[in-house]
Amino acid sequence: MSMTATTEGAAVRPRLRWGLPAYVVLVLVAMTLALVVPKTGYVLNISLQATTYAIAVLGLTIVLGLCGQINLAQAAFFGLGAYAVGIGQTEYGVNFWVCLLLGTCMAAGFGALLGASTLRLGGHYLAMVTISFQQIVTLVLINWIPVTKGPDGVRAIPRPGFLADGSTYLAFCIFMLALLGFLVWKLRDTRLGRAMRAVRDNELAAGVAGIDVYRTKVTAFALSAVLGGIGGALFAGGFSYVSPDQFSFAESVVFLTMVLLGGVASPIGAAIGTGLLILIPEWLRFLKSIPGLYLAIYGAAVILIVLFMPDGIWGFVRNQFDRFKRAAGSVLGGDTLQLSGGGTGSDMVMEVRGLSKHFGGLKAVDEVDLTIRRGGVHALIGPNGSGKTTTLNVLSGLYRATSGTIMLNGRDVTNLPPHARTAAGLGRTFQNIRLWRSMTALENVMVGAERPGNPVGGDSAALLARSRAALAFVGLEDRADEVVANFSYGHQRAVEIARALAGDPALLLLDEPGAGLNSSEKVELRDLLKRISARGLTILIIDHDMTLVSEVAQHITVLNFGRRIADGYSADVLKHPDVIAAYLGTAPDVAA
Ligand code: ADP
Ligand code: MG
Repeated sequence: MSMTATTEGAAVRPRLRWGLPAYVVLVLVAMTLALVVPKTGYVLNISLQATTYAIAVLGLTIVLGLCGQINLAQAAFFGLGAYAVGIGQTEYGVNFWVCLLLGTCMAAGFGALLGASTLRLGGHYLAMVTISFQQIVTLVLINWIPVTKGPDGVRAIPRPGFLADGSTYLAFCIFMLALLGFLVWKLRDTRLGRAMRAVRDNELAAGVAGIDVYRTKVTAFALSAVLGGIGGALFAGGFSYVSPDQFSFAESVVFLTMVLLGGVASPIGAAIGTGLLILIPEWLRFLKSIPGLYLAIYGAAVILIVLFMPDGIWGFVRNQFDRFKRAAGSVLGGDTLQLSGGGTGSDMVMEVRGLSKHFGGLKAVDEVDLTIRRGGVHALIGPNGSGKTTTLNVLSGLYRATSGTIMLNGRDVTNLPPHARTAAGLGRTFQNIRLWRSMTALENVMVGAERPGNPVGGDSAALLARSRAALAFVGLEDRADEVVANFSYGHQRAVEIARALAGDPALLLLDEPGAGLNSSEKVELRDLLKRISARGLTILIIDHDMTLVSEVAQHITVLNFGRRIADGYSADVLKHPDVIAAYLGTAPDVAA
């Protein structure tokens, strides 16, 4: 079937045709209400707080929701924006907008710095670093009195002239929230958004697919801080007074609770969570006469929501909604996958000399030479524990070689990180499947197609066509829009291969693709390998199934105890006495 009607948005996330117009109308109605409905100062303040907070919470949608990184310093970024607008205007007479810009840039800078710490830290340590940053900012705000005015805070912060009226200012904040929310919504299905989700779901696979994991995290932190900064700047203009306690660690926790409560996966969740956490305390105000009761009910409500709606309120609503609608028939890509085989360089796609990988005293890979000719299938075999996976991990950059050199397409890649090797033309699958489980099959494959160095990368229509063609090639085009976590083992393998194929690599590394497959799936795999090879893509395959290996591979390299014990044409190698001895002697589980 031919490619028809494949606009990127429609294909990635089934989208309602009236979604955007409805959104615009909704925002216009909200802005009009803000402008014309008479309100008390109290209502105005609550509304201003909710809109400016929601902008900061949107930042957490990016860094935590999309990229999976914890950030317990959002109030600090909020504070940077707020103080920039406060001090800049009152002390230095700088224009509001310039202050907003400066504050946002400052937040972005510190956000990137915080993101940079993810190079060495993750999980709990990252949480601690963000808390430390939060505490430092609080300390500076309190103690750097000549600049920040200390605990007294900054007063009489003006707004721009045309926004001087409170209602007008609120309408403007609603507009900003709507605009930024829309951008965050859009971000999810951009290349960067997919990269962030891939990093969140499986960092290792993201690197191997060609994503610069570190840069992606730094970007997520910086963007999150930008939203924190903008929110804070608007907050300062809204309340005309800022003080350090408004930007404390406790507020960062509130921001985090807001996003978790509403649902991290979507900007809608950010808005819902913020609204609720600002409104619940107001609703419970009548309880304040009984000390403690108010807090207990508030806490219990939050715990109950998080307990029974682990994906947040919006996630819960979406899940209910998804039960009813079944994805409409998707557009098929047809068997149109083009594989260039990495062009027409030298005869050798890969040349490995004296490759070693030691783990302490264990020589997992020991002085191995490997020459892979362009075109055809090269098998790497050997008993369990002989160093096959380790070899592949060193080739793809997950491990650093202890010694030796690796040339890919005539280029020395020995010291490159995984994503750079992928950019240089490497594709691989894993012995234990590593997909991004919360993403659809198509999204998984699209990230593969976005491999830096793949010519199709820049053009979104071509990218989508290629991704669908790769799925069609492995026979899964009709499941493109399903989340891969629900796939059978065999289908997950197929998606993993499609992901690598979509990147149009020069060399495809397959680590035991047949493991765990039933016999009919194995037949399909053999057929698939032959079809890939027929299109000119070079394959290096590890497999235990000697029938499969002898059928598809022209060349075989045999490892035993990390050393190369045989290498050459398949028929010769399989007859080699050392090979027979190694297999019969140490690995009785190998199918002969
Ligand atoms: P194969 O894939 O051929 O079954 P591996 O490459 O997985 O073998 O393992 C080769 C040897 O290296 C094994 O003895 C294994 O225990 C060891 N090894 C693999 N990875 C590591 C690691 N990260 N740290 C320490 N030892 C390892
Ligand atoms: Mg292995």
